[in-house]
Amino acid sequence: MTLPPFPNGHAPGLECSRWMSDRHCGKPATWHIIWTPAGENGLCCNTHMDEARHTWSFLAAHPYDPICSVAGAVFVHAENHCVVTDLYESGVGEREATGTT
Ligand SMILES: [Zn+2]
Ligand SMILES: [Zn+2]
Repeated sequence: MTLPPFPNGHAPGLECSRWMSDRHCGKPATWHIIWTPAGENGLCCNTHMDEARHTWSFLAAHPYDPICSVAGAVFVHAENHCVVTDLYESGVGEREATGTT
């Protein structure tokens, strides 16, 4: 699998994180790309979504939604969008499964 030069965790939320040799793109994010089944993902602008479609392989992509940036949000492949696990407890939210009740 070919992944583009997206940095991990260096770009601010809401901005395109396509790495441009010494900084990230920084345009307002309009797409949320899921790169791998392991959950690697990034935000990008229209220009770089176009680039990604032509240049790289990714698992899925959907229009960016504020939900994507909410803590605890996970991508649900069957529905092709992100959900917050609290609202989606049955089965999917492994990450938020706490045993403290
Ligand atoms: Zn961009
Ligand atoms: Zn998303």
